[in-house]
Amino acid sequence: MLKTLNSFDLKGKRILIRVDFNVPLRNGNVADDFRIRAALPTIQHCIGMGASVVLMSHLGRPKGQASDELSLIPVGETLADLLEKSIKFSHDCVSEDARDVSLGLSPGEVHLLENLRFHEAETTNDTDFSQLLAKHGNVYINDAFGTAHRAHASNVGVAAHFSQRGVGYLVEKEVKFLNEVIKRPKRPLVVILGGAKVGSKLALINRFLDEADSIIIGGGMAFTFLHVLGIQVGKSLIDQSRLKTAEKIIETARSRKVDLIFPRDVICASEISEGAERSVHTVNEIPEDQMGLDIGPESVALFDSVITSAKTIIWNGPMGVFETPGFDEGTEKTAISIAGATAAGSISVVGGGDSASAVKNLKLMDEMSHVSTGGGASLELLSGVALPALTVLER
Ligand code: AMP
Repeated sequence: MLKTLNSFDLKGKRILIRVDFNVPLRNGNVADDFRIRAALPTIQHCIGMGASVVLMSHLGRPKGQASDELSLIPVGETLADLLEKSIKFSHDCVSEDARDVSLGLSPGEVHLLENLRFHEAETTNDTDFSQLLAKHGNVYINDAFGTAHRAHASNVGVAAHFSQRGVGYLVEKEVKFLNEVIKRPKRPLVVILGGAKVGSKLALINRFLDEADSIIIGGGMAFTFLHVLGIQVGKSLIDQSRLKTAEKIIETARSRKVDLIFPRDVICASEISEGAERSVHTVNEIPEDQMGLDIGPESVALFDSVITSAKTIIWNGPMGVFETPGFDEGTEKTAISIAGATAAGSISVVGGGDSASAVKNLKLMDEMSHVSTGGGASLELLSGVALPALTVLER
């Protein structure tokens, strides 16, 4: 069992929190403070309970080298603004000075440590480094879901040094939706998959072949399956290395009576560009020299009818090349269908990565039951894989 924030007596304690402040920066400033805002409830709860707080995070991929560009200083400034109080900052997460600042914190004070990944020891889960990190606190809380599928010092090694350890509000919500709700779904349960790579979604498909009522496969992935079904897909994406796997998935779905639903029509073009000439074709009539780059209107309507009748909806992966205007409509319409079903009482869970960005860009975040903050971590947890950073807290 994971211990959650509300079950700790935090008064007078120093809480070492692994947060996810891996935010985009522009000209040395935080370009999007979403992840910092998302960590506020956990931080404010600790402060409100009379604890002091030490925050640690990575930012980007400095590969073990300190660099001004990937410093957490701008994050600290934004955090101080959001908390409406000054915070302490240390330029090295494991220096003696940094540790002394943590040991000297008064209740209510916040100390942010510099980028963990300025030390290679973070990603190698080095024992000595974990031990140095652990000296910052006497309670350990992990609220960084995005890295939970990786075994690093700040989320796995460090936990061994604490008898009091658990998860913050963000991770608690991720686990609730990506794990618990899905174990006992209200039915029908529909899983919507898209994106380019069949391989990265295999574990997810295999899990839900046992549990879903229907699986919608859109995006570039769909063409590998359509090809296996004997359809000529022109120059559309086909993953040659997954043809046998796709065939097996189709057979298993048939034997388990899971509905596998593919696009009926697609938007085609001969190149991926905003100005490319586009035309809609049924999947049986894709021109030889063209690629299917988004789902067409018939597919949108078909998917909408399945989504509308579902009680639990899981979505992972865009329905087309949504980064390019002209091929983003299928993804947008799918997001709108899911938001509509959620408003009507269904539970919707959007995996991190591209589908989460699409929902965010469409300003539909609040219309979904849960939008995951973690790409790889959400895919693994949804697939039923144990995440090292959570497993270590369950012991
Ligand atoms: P994945 O990492 O496998 O989820 O793939 C995400 C990528 O799939 C996005 O960058 C999309 O542009 C791409 N994608 C979605 N649909 C298609 C398609 N029909 N053809 C090519 N790429 C696609």
